[in-house]
Amino acid sequence: MNLASYRKKSPWILHYNAGGCNGCDIEILACLGPKYDIERFGMINTGNPKQSDILLVTGPVTKRSRERLVEIYAQMPEPKVVVSCGACACTGGVFRGMYNCEGGVDQYIPVDVYVCGCGTRPEQIIDGVVQALGILEQKTKAMEVSVRLQKEPLKEEGQINRRNIADQIKPALS
Ligand code: SF4
Repeated sequence: MNLASYRKKSPWILHYNAGGCNGCDIEILACLGPKYDIERFGMINTGNPKQSDILLVTGPVTKRSRERLVEIYAQMPEPKVVVSCGACACTGGVFRGMYNCEGGVDQYIPVDVYVCGCGTRPEQIIDGVVQALGILEQKTKAMEVSVRLQKEPLKEEGQINRRNIADQIKPALS
């Protein structure tokens, strides 16, 4: 089994409320309960961005929360997926145009999955997170390929062979 499969089977989620009314957050908590049981997908709700794969954001971005949102996103290791959960997180929702509302989450960080609704139903949240799992798998595979390409020299004639270049540079430097 490769890294993409491991990640897909046990993703860790970080939940952040950027300034919503808590309606969507209550629905997320319902997903964690025994009725909807999101942990059956191997997920766990963690409080540490450095250990998270999926960022689940609720509420509109406010002037007070925007720096924290960007900081949390920056602390998460690659590959990572962002799920915008609820009308407020997608567009600003009912808070759009207010003096302290900066709009949707995608104004500050890239969003991979948009989950609509006010508040979102647990089924919609689970659907969005399952979509996020597919995207996480694709991103993990893309990273594995790029790392392999960096390590493997191109062997065909007429193309750059990094190992040859390194062999040529080494004696010149010593
Ligand atoms: S989308 Fe609706 S329920 Fe969710 S945070 Fe905004 S106002 Fe509240």
